[in-house]
Amino acid sequence: MKKEIICTVCPRGCHILVDGDEKSVFSVDGYGCKRGFEYASAEYLSPVRILTTTVKIFGIDSDLLPVRSAKPLPKNKLSECMDIIKNTEVKLPVKRYDTIISDICGTGIDIVATKDIG
Ligand code: SF4
Repeated sequence: MKKEIICTVCPRGCHILVDGDEKSVFSVDGYGCKRGFEYASAEYLSPVRILTTTVKIFGIDSDLLPVRSAKPLPKNKLSECMDIIKNTEVKLPVKRYDTIISDICGTGIDIVATKDIG
Protein backbone atom coordinates (compact mmCIF):
# COMPACT_ATOMS: atom_id res chain seq x y z
CA MET A 1 0.00 0.00 0.00
CA LYS A 2 1.40 3.39 -1.01
CA LYS A 3 1.20 6.36 1.31
CA GLU A 4 2.30 9.97 0.87
CA ILE A 5 3.99 11.41 3.94
CA ILE A 6 4.95 15.07 4.29
CA CYS A 7 8.25 15.29 6.09
CA THR A 8 8.13 17.60 9.11
CA VAL A 9 11.79 17.29 10.04
CA CYS A 10 12.74 20.56 8.29
CA PRO A 11 10.81 23.42 6.66
CA ARG A 12 11.34 22.11 3.11
CA GLY A 13 8.43 19.70 3.69
CA CYS A 14 9.31 17.04 1.12
CA HIS A 15 6.39 14.91 -0.09
CA ILE A 16 7.68 11.37 0.37
CA LEU A 17 5.99 8.36 -1.18
CA VAL A 18 6.35 5.17 0.85
CA ASP A 19 5.26 1.74 -0.35
CA GLY A 20 5.03 -1.25 1.94
CA ASP A 21 2.76 -3.40 4.07
CA GLU A 22 1.99 -3.53 7.79
CA LYS A 23 5.41 -4.89 8.69
CA SER A 24 7.86 -3.70 6.04
CA VAL A 25 8.77 -0.76 3.87
CA PHE A 26 9.42 -1.77 0.26
CA SER A 27 10.42 1.58 -1.22
CA VAL A 28 10.77 5.25 -0.30
CA ASP A 29 10.82 8.00 -2.95
CA GLY A 30 10.94 11.78 -2.90
CA TYR A 31 12.98 12.38 0.24
CA GLY A 32 15.59 15.11 0.24
CA CYS A 33 17.96 13.63 2.80
CA LYS A 34 18.64 10.63 5.03
CA ARG A 35 16.74 12.12 7.98
CA GLY A 36 13.62 12.34 5.85
CA PHE A 37 14.06 8.77 4.65
CA GLU A 38 14.20 7.61 8.28
CA TYR A 39 11.29 9.82 9.33
CA ALA A 40 9.04 8.61 6.51
CA SER A 41 9.92 4.95 7.07
CA ALA A 42 9.15 5.21 10.80
CA GLU A 43 5.98 7.24 10.18
CA TYR A 44 4.75 4.64 7.70
CA LEU A 45 5.24 1.69 10.05
CA SER A 46 4.26 3.29 13.36
CA PRO A 47 3.05 6.89 13.20
CA VAL A 48 3.46 8.90 16.39
CA ARG A 49 2.28 12.30 17.59
CA ILE A 50 2.95 14.62 20.50
CA LEU A 51 -0.38 14.91 22.34
CA THR A 52 -1.18 18.43 23.57
CA THR A 53 -4.34 19.08 25.56
CA THR A 54 -5.63 20.26 28.96
CA VAL A 55 -6.61 18.61 32.24
CA LYS A 56 -9.30 19.64 34.69
CA ILE A 57 -8.17 21.21 37.97
CA PHE A 58 -9.76 19.81 41.11
CA GLY A 59 -12.14 22.32 42.70
CA ILE A 60 -11.63 24.99 40.01
CA ASP A 61 -14.02 25.21 37.05
CA SER A 62 -12.65 28.42 35.57
CA ASP A 63 -9.19 27.18 34.53
CA LEU A 64 -7.53 24.16 32.97
CA LEU A 65 -3.98 22.88 33.18
CA PRO A 66 -2.17 22.63 29.82
CA VAL A 67 -0.37 19.31 29.40
CA ARG A 68 1.49 17.34 26.72
CA SER A 69 3.00 13.94 26.27
CA ALA A 70 6.67 13.88 27.26
CA LYS A 71 7.43 12.01 24.00
CA PRO A 72 5.44 11.23 20.86
CA LEU A 73 2.67 8.67 21.43
CA PRO A 74 1.56 5.98 18.98
CA LYS A 75 -1.16 7.56 16.83
CA ASN A 76 -3.45 4.57 17.32
CA LYS A 77 -3.38 5.16 21.11
CA LEU A 78 -4.32 8.85 21.06
CA SER A 79 -8.06 8.33 21.46
CA GLU A 80 -7.58 5.93 24.38
CA CYS A 81 -5.14 8.37 26.00
CA MET A 82 -7.61 11.24 25.57
CA ASP A 83 -10.30 9.20 27.37
CA ILE A 84 -8.00 8.87 30.37
CA ILE A 85 -6.98 12.55 30.28
CA LYS A 86 -10.64 13.67 30.05
CA ASN A 87 -11.38 11.78 33.28
CA THR A 88 -8.37 13.14 35.16
CA GLU A 89 -8.41 15.98 37.68
CA VAL A 90 -5.22 17.42 39.09
CA LYS A 91 -4.75 19.05 42.48
CA LEU A 92 -2.78 22.29 42.69
CA PRO A 93 -0.03 23.39 43.01
CA VAL A 94 1.54 22.06 39.83
CA LYS A 95 4.92 22.94 38.37
CA ARG A 96 5.92 22.81 34.72
CA TYR A 97 7.12 19.30 33.75
CA ASP A 98 5.42 17.65 36.76
CA THR A 99 4.08 14.24 35.77
CA ILE A 100 0.30 14.37 35.70
CA ILE A 101 -0.30 10.83 34.38
CA SER A 102 2.50 8.33 34.33
CA ASP A 103 2.84 5.55 31.72
CA ILE A 104 -0.38 6.53 29.97
CA CYS A 105 -2.10 3.54 28.36
CA GLY A 106 0.94 1.39 29.10
CA THR A 107 3.02 3.28 26.54
CA GLY A 108 5.80 4.09 29.01
CA ILE A 109 5.21 7.77 28.23
CA ASP A 110 4.11 10.35 30.80
CA ILE A 111 1.69 13.24 30.44
CA VAL A 112 3.38 16.31 31.92
CA ALA A 113 2.30 19.83 32.84
CA THR A 114 3.47 22.62 30.55
CA LYS A 115 2.78 25.47 32.97
CA ASP A 116 3.16 26.36 36.65
CA ILE A 117 -0.22 26.88 38.32
CA GLY A 118 -0.90 27.61 41.97
S1 SF4 B 1 13.45 14.84 3.59
FE1 SF4 B 1 15.16 16.04 4.43
S2 SF4 B 1 15.13 17.90 3.18
FE2 SF4 B 1 13.12 16.95 2.89
S3 SF4 B 1 11.81 17.90 4.48
FE3 SF4 B 1 12.66 16.00 5.35
S4 SF4 B 1 14.49 16.67 6.47
FE4 SF4 B 1 13.93 18.32 5.04
